[in-house]
Amino acid sequence: MNFAKRTKRQKKIKVEDGDPSEKKYAHTIQFYKEPPTDNISLQEFEDLAIQRLKVLKVIESMSFKEKKGSKQFQKALETEFNKDKFLPKSESMGGVATAEIQKRRSDHISHFILRLAYCKSEELRRWFITQELELFRFRFLDERTSFRTQFLIDNDLHYEPIDVKEKEALKKQLVDSSYNLTEMSIEGIEFYKVPFTEALDLVRSRKIYVHKGYAYVPSNDLVSIVISAYRAHLSHALALTARAVPQLEEDNRLLPLLNNLSKQYLGQDYGGKQTNAGKVSIGELDGLSRKSFPLCMRHLHSALKHDHHLKYWGRMQYGLFLKAIGITLEQALIFWRSEFSKTMDVDKFDKQYAYNIRHNYGKEGKRVDYTPYSCMKIITSNAPGAGDHHGCPFRHSDATILKQQMSSYGVSQTSIDSIMTYMNGGHCQLACSRYFDVTHQLPEGTTSIQHPNHYFEESRKVLTGVKPTNGAYRSPSSQISNPVQASKDSQPIGDGDDFNDETGISMDDLDKMEAGAV
Ligand code: SF4
Repeated sequence: MNFAKRTKRQKKIKVEDGDPSEKKYAHTIQFYKEPPTDNISLQEFEDLAIQRLKVLKVIESMSFKEKKGSKQFQKALETEFNKDKFLPKSESMGGVATAEIQKRRSDHISHFILRLAYCKSEELRRWFITQELELFRFRFLDERTSFRTQFLIDNDLHYEPIDVKEKEALKKQLVDSSYNLTEMSIEGIEFYKVPFTEALDLVRSRKIYVHKGYAYVPSNDLVSIVISAYRAHLSHALALTARAVPQLEEDNRLLPLLNNLSKQYLGQDYGGKQTNAGKVSIGELDGLSRKSFPLCMRHLHSALKHDHHLKYWGRMQYGLFLKAIGITLEQALIFWRSEFSKTMDVDKFDKQYAYNIRHNYGKEGKRVDYTPYSCMKIITSNAPGAGDHHGCPFRHSDATILKQQMSSYGVSQTSIDSIMTYMNGGHCQLACSRYFDVTHQLPEGTTSIQHPNHYFEESRKVLTGVKPTNGAYRSPSSQISNPVQASKDSQPIGDGDDFNDETGISMDDLDKMEAGAV
């Protein structure tokens, strides 16, 4: 967007004139290929961003309750979005009303605003892509078949349903290649003929019939192919947006707004300024690890005490967590040195490990004040290998060992069973939330854990009744606030700090993505 300079908030952002038309917004769903060119006020810019963020938050919280892509997930979103006034709805063949066109325009613009806000780090991009893909899946499946077909054609995805004659001729093969179709049930299902190289996931899972280089994909599975195309497009587009964002830095109206929008997905920023510094001393860590640490951090603490050593990712995960709960740099150096020096010379520790600790506190190297890892990062990156203790127990531990561990911590068998049900279903954070509720004597469903430091703060709140000093975590439904107000209230942390650090994507990667390698 060519944002022309304006100094007053009330003034319009001048872009080239554009008139939303039926042609431009021919479909309820979009691949968002063309950026918007309308005139919008800053107020509308903010409103649209917040509304889309609310939609994405609904998707995220629903994915903690239901399996993504399942019928239950689709149904739950349908119920949620039925009341929603923001998302465009599938229209009848009789034409599209002006109000509906306006919704499609808002959908279009809001997507691009959040692209600007969520392009700056790998973690933000991952979060945004995950929620946008689920939103797209929901809306695509909600469309009528004829609209879906037209949408695919309009987006150069030339997948056409096979005709009745071909379907009849292949009936037996289509039924035999699927575990849940019968000759009766395929009558009402459209099959699309797709080059098999574009349906590798489905081919790999042996879910479809393949013949002469074509895969015959039932309409409900077609979405996974369309989503792959959308994912590739969105990843590439976000990489390009990340490159363009520095040009916005001279615009002091938009940048604070965008920065604060991107921070709202976690509810609480645990990095940047150490507002808790000194609130916890190293002498309290043994007791706190038993009462208020999530299992991932309790495990790292025990491993450190037992082995007097942690490998790199363990030191990063635990060290940054400790920093955010309030351990100062001086205390951290004493703590790690006292453990490591039980098995090595103090000199060796000072030479090989102290730098790493000072680095985490922003006192060495690029002097970036690193943020502690969120659950999402711990769960999805750097899976632990032999001798490692980092990671999320609900994702990376052996189920039998984890059950024994929880039992030794005094968790009842019934509670362990309910925690394991979530874990076995792949819902690590729900398992952790259930563990929290059980160990803090709270009714099931009270807590929704998204960050180890959130776990710690909630635990201190429950056990001591004291509200954390740097602000309580807000539940997902209430965590969208006015980003402009937030920008005035909070200290911004270094913009773009995530680039080129160990959590970010390098500029080389961006070059490759731009060259079409994604
Ligand atoms: Fe730690 Fe998060 Fe896993 Fe809980 S869900 S154990 S807080 S990584």
